[in-house]
Amino acid sequence: MPKKRRNGGRSKKNRGHTQGVPCTHCGRIVPKDKAIKRYTVRNMVDASSLRDIKDNRAFENFSIPKLYTKLQYCISCGIHLRVVRVRNHEVRRSQYLREKKSQRLSLKLVKFNAFSSSFLDYFFMF
Ligand SMILES: [Zn+2]
Repeated sequence: MPKKRRNGGRSKKNRGHTQGVPCTHCGRIVPKDKAIKRYTVRNMVDASSLRDIKDNRAFENFSIPKLYTKLQYCISCGIHLRVVRVRNHEVRRSQYLREKKSQRLSLKLVKFNAFSSSFLDYFFMF
């Protein structure tokens, strides 16, 4: 049967099961390897409040702490909130082919380097 994605939209390599995580937006339990993960660093206060605080602070080199959050979305919310977009077949395919090509190229380079070093060693023996 033809598949839309080779990995089924997941990165579960040789595992049978991965833990479920709740979606940040809707609370749906989504497999951890399938969830769309974004790590965001935001200011605790908005820009105008930040200016007010900076004007009235008692210590000169005091910086307001930041908000570090890891967002995990289910696929439906990821699409709805436009974190990720729908890509057509060619685009999905081309990325996969590009990865494959780069792997092959690196393998060739390794082989070439091994060959050239041994060749040079042979050359400099005489
Ligand atoms: Zn969701």
